[in-house]
Amino acid sequence: MNNTFSIAIHGGAGTLVKGMMTPDLESRYKNDLKTAMLAGYAVLEAGNTAVEAVEAAIIVLENSSLFNAGKGAVFTANGTHEMDASIMDGKSLNAGAVSLITGIKNPVSLARDVMEKSEHVFLAGEGAHEFAKELNYNFKDAAYFHDEFRYQQWIEIKDTDSFQLDHSTKKDSKFGTVGAVACDKHGNIAAATSTGGMTNKKWGRVGDSPMIGSGNYANNKTCAISCTGSGEFFIRGVVAYDVACLMEHKGMSVDEAAQEVIHKRILEIGGDGGLIAVDSKGNISMPFNTEGMYRAHKSSTGEEGISIYK
Ligand code: ASP
Repeated sequence: MNNTFSIAIHGGAGTLVKGMMTPDLESRYKNDLKTAMLAGYAVLEAGNTAVEAVEAAIIVLENSSLFNAGKGAVFTANGTHEMDASIMDGKSLNAGAVSLITGIKNPVSLARDVMEKSEHVFLAGEGAHEFAKELNYNFKDAAYFHDEFRYQQWIEIKDTDSFQLDHSTKKDSKFGTVGAVACDKHGNIAAATSTGGMTNKKWGRVGDSPMIGSGNYANNKTCAISCTGSGEFFIRGVVAYDVACLMEHKGMSVDEAAQEVIHKRILEIGGDGGLIAVDSKGNISMPFNTEGMYRAHKSSTGEEGISIYK
């Protein structure tokens, strides 16, 4: 048995403008981050798996309209919500992912069902919805996902060709792809990521979040990772797997590898964002190259924190 178990979560990296953040809003963010972190930690403390812990934490964040995942997901160019999610088990290297999902309250659970109840790794759009229907998922209508702030973000750019990161505008105070990584009492690790993607995205755009190796990855040999940031760059940089590779092939620690990727390798190709990572000893790293990243972590060593800014 591994004596250190730990969890880290993020609610998106971004350019957070302090002036836009009221004390009340800041405490709501911190409160939801804390609830999610504790939900995942309780699963680990009870001796359950890292996979169960990351799903539990993500569900809390998907159910909060403060984050761009599940309820409160951003709007596409057509005024709809298309969500992406993924999960990976570092012990078995099993993985599940869904993309272009509409109406599912907790996309992370559907990703887990793809991992555990299908022969496949990645289901998208219609097929993913069919699969969800077979499993008797309850579909929510668009009103459930609607968030007035996200709607206004979309209205401002909807007649343009631009699409934007949920957290890229200066006046923005709401950010948000969500992610969780955990190491359980047995030293098994897992990662999960869930997002609404980018405001005004078109043509079935898929970001890094559901792509195994780009926005999400877990392998007991190295680390579990969940990313947030400009997805197109994270896909090209194969960011999550890159961190694992630096550990495996260059012998770096999880923190050295994560810092190298976020502060050097992804910047070199023009990407901004951050990631959370944990290794199978429970060591956590949470680097970002933006002004802030919503994040929280808790370890059985007693270490704990909830932060937004640097
Ligand atoms: N990486 C996500 C995407 O490109 C966005 C984010 O992290 O907020 O879909």
